[in-house]
Amino acid sequence: MKEFNIDVDTEDVLAEIKKKKSQRVPVREVCVCGHNAGSHSSKAKPGSANAVLWEQRGTDRCRPGRQECPCVGFELAAVCADVRLFRFKTSGRGPKHALFQGIVTARARDIEVSPAGDWSCFACKREDVSVVPVPLREDGRQDDKPAKINKLLCGDCIAKLDRSVLWVAPAEVDTTPEA
Ligand SMILES: [Zn+2]
Ligand SMILES: [Zn+2]
Ligand SMILES: [Zn+2]
Repeated sequence: MKEFNIDVDTEDVLAEIKKKKSQRVPVREVCVCGHNAGSHSSKAKPGSANAVLWEQRGTDRCRPGRQECPCVGFELAAVCADVRLFRFKTSGRGPKHALFQGIVTARARDIEVSPAGDWSCFACKREDVSVVPVPLREDGRQDDKPAKINKLLCGDCIAKLDRSVLWVAPAEVDTTPEA
């Protein structure tokens, strides 16, 4: 068999490959919609089709796998060592929400996952309460499908939401994506 006629130190090449690998910082961030940063056009890898979309339209778009998620603005909620797990589809709040499904799946598989961003209740701002992700319609009511707005709410606020007395006016649900 013919040999390559190249003059190169094998060790040098391997060292370069190793260096490249360690420079590749994986995006570990997960949005409150339950999908990873890379699924959001505003956070997509530069040069990717999703990133081009963000540059052209200036509006965020979330596309986990083949799914279309209406999330309009990335909002950090968790970091996970394997964000590919975060591809579920929301069908309601709490256990029916993509964010919780991703977190629980990661934990069940012993994959590192931890909360990030603001986990106080979005409505009452309390920090000493447990909260669950809730998909919200633009009129402030809870949705039972993937929603544009997803907020972490405490039990008391959810009870109010169910009685339609949580928001004084629908406008209280801030739909503007965070910068
Ligand atoms: Zn999102
Ligand atoms: Zn999403
Ligand atoms: Zn609350």
